[in-house]
Amino acid sequence: MDPNPANADAAPAAPLPPKPGIGKRRAVFLDRDGTLIEHVHELVDPAAVRLVPGTGDGLARLRDAGFLCIVVTNQPLLGRGRLDEAGLDRIHARLAELLAAEAPSARIDAFYACPVESGGAGPDVIEHPDRKPGPGLLLRAAREHGIDLAQSWMVGDSPRDVLAGRHADCRGTILLRSGVSGRNPAAPAGCDHVEDDVAAAAARILAETHAT
Ligand SMILES: [Mg+2]
Repeated sequence: MDPNPANADAAPAAPLPPKPGIGKRRAVFLDRDGTLIEHVHELVDPAAVRLVPGTGDGLARLRDAGFLCIVVTNQPLLGRGRLDEAGLDRIHARLAELLAAEAPSARIDAFYACPVESGGAGPDVIEHPDRKPGPGLLLRAAREHGIDLAQSWMVGDSPRDVLAGRHADCRGTILLRSGVSGRNPAAPAGCDHVEDDVAAAAARILAETHAT
């Protein structure tokens, strides 16, 4: 009930227009190395791609629930010239192949990679808008895929991932123990949950989604 009698008979306010380029779809943004696939130092060979257990199951559950699954990854190998876009595409094609073999509906809707090299700053310092913990890749994906960030999540094994999701104003962030965080389990400020792997993260996201 509107406390102002002058507005009592007013028509309901029209919904506010969405922010430019931001839409209604829900997404889960996922780190790649140590999250979806086992961490390999300087991964350039598609044959070295190995799924972290639970990845296929987790992605299938998220996609079946209507979430886009979008990879956001720091890949300074691109900037160093150790890997080109075609080589990166081959790695991601192998990842897609392994996912399809594990669960038919598990797939990645889009890949976004940042080629910027780190200058050695800590994980909480934004060295470039696109390099996590910067939110640039998430914001670009939101524009290009019509994503509502307030309904979307960021999942990864590094504090950089959590902070990128927080800087993008995602609904929630999940730190995984599947990769580097297993050795350094301290969760940064802004981390909503800590889970073992992508399957557990998917269960958490779906439980939170159904609770509202
Ligand atoms: Mg990682």
